[in-house]
Amino acid sequence: MNKITETTVEIDLEALTHNFHLIKSILKPTTKVLGVVKASAYGVDSMAIARKLTELNIDYLAVAYVREGLALRQAGITTPVMVLHPQEGSFELILKHKLEPVMYNKRIFNLFLAVVNEKNIKNYPIHLKFNTGLNRLGFTYEELSFLIEKLNTHTNVKVASIFSHLTASEDHSNIDFTTKQFELFDKITAKLLPVLKEKPILHILNTSGIFNFPQHQYDMVRTGIGLYGFANDNKFTKSLKNVISLKTVISQINEVRKGESVGYNFGFIADKDYKIATSPIGHADGISRSMGKGKIFVTINNQKAAVIGNVCMDMIMIDVTDIDCKESDEVIIFNNQEMVNQLAVASNTISYEILTSLSKRMKRLIK
Ligand SMILES: *Cc1c(COP(=O)(O)O)cnc(C)c1O
Repeated sequence: MNKITETTVEIDLEALTHNFHLIKSILKPTTKVLGVVKASAYGVDSMAIARKLTELNIDYLAVAYVREGLALRQAGITTPVMVLHPQEGSFELILKHKLEPVMYNKRIFNLFLAVVNEKNIKNYPIHLKFNTGLNRLGFTYEELSFLIEKLNTHTNVKVASIFSHLTASEDHSNIDFTTKQFELFDKITAKLLPVLKEKPILHILNTSGIFNFPQHQYDMVRTGIGLYGFANDNKFTKSLKNVISLKTVISQINEVRKGESVGYNFGFIADKDYKIATSPIGHADGISRSMGKGKIFVTINNQKAAVIGNVCMDMIMIDVTDIDCKESDEVIIFNNQEMVNQLAVASNTISYEILTSLSKRMKRLIK
């Protein structure tokens, strides 16, 4: 490996491939896989990830917003792309770039129908999202009669898939709630399927759903975090490989005398003599301010070192008093799932937010 000379997000596409195949191995051979690449593929690099997934013959990709789908099309990706949360102003772009919108309520469905109707488009693929308990986006069971009436009178759209999203698929203490979601989903599809000319794809599981409820895989599953190496449960995470590593360098080493302070607002006061390293990564890059003051550790030359003082916008300071290191040495912020989880715990969040907070200004290196 070449030496890192700036803060770098390393992306291991072999690990991604491993994770894709591992998830496939839990599924029936006929079950389709949708790769969720929203939010720059969870902060990684949507193009690199989407290209690799396309190479692996993934069946679908999903993004949250239309702009994200547009970027995939502009990069030449032709795989079907589901837009999970389109807004009314984006329908022209959706049609122009053959993106497939999710219809999640009456308002958005009526607006979309008006557009395809006016353009006299036939059989445009859409996806129907149902709210089975998350109470976020989606049609309710009670709105089925509205949907059935619309689908019977409009040939402009074709229901490519019907889906819902689980509230707590990772949580074993809420299996009853999850079971009710599956039951309601079954009730919804039982009513809807008979009115459709072609059988749509049914799907409900996200990554932790795949690991915990594979018996409910229906025709497709949606995996995001699993592709990047996380499964909400250590026992499953172990079988996945880490895809994303975050590395930086030591820019400067300062000798700090007993009684001196380090960083803004005297965030660290030396109770003895210290050797302190400064690295070019900060809260603008996703190292939350809440991770400072000794809450997280990084690895330098295989030794564990604490981040001290207040995290700055573009810099952190690290206690390297007892560490054999010099300026320009590599600093590993994380290179395994456990280290990501430690950052998450330190800033009271989850792995998802650690990854999606990785700033765009950091170099991406694809391995
Ligand atoms: C983000 C998202 C997913 C992916 O969830 P993971 O837990 O990352 O696998 C799946 N489905 C929907 C509707 C989502 O919004």
